[in-house]
Amino acid sequence: MPIDIPSILRECHRLRRHLRDLKEEIDRGPRVLKAQQARLAAEEQEHKDAYEIIKRLKLRQKEDEGSLKVVEANLDKLGTKAMTVTTMKEMEAVKHETEQANAKKGLLEDAILGAMTEIEERTANLPNVEKKWKDAQAEFTQYQVDAKERMERMLEDRSLSESELTRRETELPNDMRDQYERLIKAHGPDGLAGVKGTVCGQCRSVIGESRFFELEAGKFVLCPVCGRGLYLVRE
Ligand SMILES: [Zn+2]
Repeated sequence: MPIDIPSILRECHRLRRHLRDLKEEIDRGPRVLKAQQARLAAEEQEHKDAYEIIKRLKLRQKEDEGSLKVVEANLDKLGTKAMTVTTMKEMEAVKHETEQANAKKGLLEDAILGAMTEIEERTANLPNVEKKWKDAQAEFTQYQVDAKERMERMLEDRSLSESELTRRETELPNDMRDQYERLIKAHGPDGLAGVKGTVCGQCRSVIGESRFFELEAGKFVLCPVCGRGLYLVRE
């Protein structure tokens, strides 16, 4: 039985391209993992921040309440003082100080009320924060499971494809083999090109009729334009 050169070359070409794609995808794995880890870390930070912000708001509220007490005590004192002043100048001074204290009191009361509202809203939202964090963790775990399965599948595919490639390459006659090796060395997996009709699959040039007949006869023919090793693609 004569060796079916076109089908060997077609398979070698397919396997080499497939192995190149597999390599790219395997190499991409660590980068994807890193991106997923960064996403998880960002979610963790967001979760932590949600509690940290409430803690800070409460602390601030407590401080403001303390300040408010001081201002209120001062206002009491000023009230008492107002009843004992004897000159217009003193009265003006007390009045001015009281106005300032009242303004400060108003600001503190607003701040306390604002903080209370915000604490309430943020606390009410905590179940959502928890859910988001839980979902992110579950998603990452699922990603790890999927990535591991995928990687195992790709490694197995690679090993099978490599042995199949070796098997097919050894079927090539020795004289063809040397030329084949040179083409792969020069162009990688695309050292070969399929010919559909009479068109080179690599450079789209039309190969001459005589080359086409040589290909049909099972000879190893190079594209006159791009120099790739050709094989016929039968549709
Ligand atoms: Zn070509």
